[in-house]
Amino acid sequence: MAIGIDLIIENGTVVFNGNILKTDIAIENGKIIKIGNRNHFPAAERVINAEGKLVFPGAIDTHTHFEQPFMGEVPPETWDQGTIAAAFGGNTMHIDFVVQEHGKSLLDAIKAKVSYVDALSAIDFSFHACFTDFSDMDMIRAEVRKIIEYGIPSFKEYMTYRKEGYFVNDGELYQLLREVQKFGGIVGVHAENTFIAESLIEEFLKEGKKSAKYHPLAKPNFVEAEAIQRAISIANFAGARLYVVHLSTKEGLHLIKEAKCRGEPIFAETCPHYLTLTDDVYSRPDGINYIMSPPLRKKDDIEALWKGLSDGTISVTGTDHIAYTSEQKRRHSETFANVPNGVPGVELRLPIMYSEGVRKGRISLTRMVDICSTNAAKLFGLYPKKGAILPGSDADIVIFDPKIEKTITVETLHMGTDYTIYEGMKVTGWPVITILRGKVIVENESYLGKKGDGSFIKGRIVDEIIDTV
Ligand SMILES: [Zn+2]
Repeated sequence: MAIGIDLIIENGTVVFNGNILKTDIAIENGKIIKIGNRNHFPAAERVINAEGKLVFPGAIDTHTHFEQPFMGEVPPETWDQGTIAAAFGGNTMHIDFVVQEHGKSLLDAIKAKVSYVDALSAIDFSFHACFTDFSDMDMIRAEVRKIIEYGIPSFKEYMTYRKEGYFVNDGELYQLLREVQKFGGIVGVHAENTFIAESLIEEFLKEGKKSAKYHPLAKPNFVEAEAIQRAISIANFAGARLYVVHLSTKEGLHLIKEAKCRGEPIFAETCPHYLTLTDDVYSRPDGINYIMSPPLRKKDDIEALWKGLSDGTISVTGTDHIAYTSEQKRRHSETFANVPNGVPGVELRLPIMYSEGVRKGRISLTRMVDICSTNAAKLFGLYPKKGAILPGSDADIVIFDPKIEKTITVETLHMGTDYTIYEGMKVTGWPVITILRGKVIVENESYLGKKGDGSFIKGRIVDEIIDTV
């Protein structure tokens, strides 16, 4: 027989909403019901002592690509395996993508994917909806409205990957921005000028320059910055919100900062790899393993992005996780241009953001929680159900030990691949317990959940909330 409430987390240092507070949390039926001194709580079936630990709202990864076929490969990592790795990394929710097949309904694809993922995901989930076929604009208009009504307010478009069939042109982007704004959604862009990048790739390949070190040279900073500038301009003319995914350059950051200063509703995401690694890695023998787009940059870009996270120019972080194996990368390595783009990382965002960000004094602890969880929930219409430690919020909590020291190695990670881009990196601070809607799913380095624990979470953007991001 149950005695009292389900769970109490006591003596933890709770970090949320700009506050750092030593307090206790009471959880029942998957929800946070009380915060304060546990002497005022009823008895609980289980008490977790979080003395000396940090207690955050569960992390939300804004950018994952599980099981996505791309550039001739499908990552072997399964959805459950990838989301279990995410749970080990302190994530209680992730936002993935549904890409429209040309000529087919995106809404139908979304519904099919929701039911597929519902049976597999270890953590809660939603999607960004990605149109690729703009030949029937009336159909797109009708679908935008239905997709937003279905609970997916976020769209994502590729200003690049023309050969892969993903490319959106400026007119299509303008039309989509206008339509999405009408129903209260948001459009994200992968901002790279595809024509300039394609021309540079062609130039290098003709000259026999085929190794990984030419990848960043074919997509220099201005390839991203030009597309960001154009997207900001188009969004402004459309009177629409814009979200720039995986920002990598100081030039792009500057453009976003200027737009925000003008009062335009522009938001940005960056990824841990753009905050830690430089393009020097492309000269290494395993350089192809680091190929993603946009490419890794220079030290001054890294420092600029950290400043952007600290000063509010960048709102959220996601990993852009895709877990190809090194063999899959190698298979296409005759030229850098054919190597499947993307890197694994869903498990490592919190340790890296804490170690490289908070401990090195680049961001505050409260800012870390905002950019790893709360802002994602606010931006995609999930707050305060998600991203919050408040009475009534889902009891999605990560308990983080700031004293654990680790050297990152693929041997001890759970992602479905044979390498990590952070191999050998020393970090301090690691997530130790992950709680999804009141259920402990990771503890003592063991996974305690079961596949399908995660649910689809509907979002609806609220103006007054997104304005606070
Ligand atoms: Zn991506």
